[in-house]
Amino acid sequence: MKIDLSKLHDETLSSISFEGEIKKNELDINGREIKFIEPIKYDGKIYKVDDNKIVHVNITYVYEEICGRCLEPFVNRESTVLSGKLVRKSNDEDDDEVVYYSDEKLDLTEDIISMIILSLPMKPLCDEECKGICPKCGVNRNEEDCDCVIEDIDPRFAILKDFSFKE
Ligand SMILES: [Zn+2]
Ligand SMILES: [Zn+2]
Repeated sequence: MKIDLSKLHDETLSSISFEGEIKKNELDINGREIKFIEPIKYDGKIYKVDDNKIVHVNITYVYEEICGRCLEPFVNRESTVLSGKLVRKSNDEDDDEVVYYSDEKLDLTEDIISMIILSLPMKPLCDEECKGICPKCGVNRNEEDCDCVIEDIDPRFAILKDFSFKE
């Protein structure tokens, strides 16, 4: 959706509101696959402050991803905020604090997608407490308990352990 900034030329208006949805199926972020299971929703305002225009957008998205520990897909809902000064783009300058536009029709799609990438949790986890997969038998330890003993032996002591088994 494009926001018509020319409305702000009206002296009596101090802000314009807008809302919309972005239909995006997936994002590949360095091999991390994010599937949006519903349209990305946003609503925001553009304010006139003195001679500046300030944009503030609330963004909500729901996505599915594979858990990095148990390898099961999980669904997560996140929200984030895009805000900054609107600056008419003149050259190749690029500043994260600023949302650029080039004509009176503002398209925030790219800025919203960039904010989503920044707002994603660092690690794809179905749950902070996800127990993951047993490295020995391969069961999902969130669903099943196995009797595997995961030995975490310092390689320097491994020799001693072998030795004791020989008796
Ligand atoms: Zn998990
Ligand atoms: Zn196991």
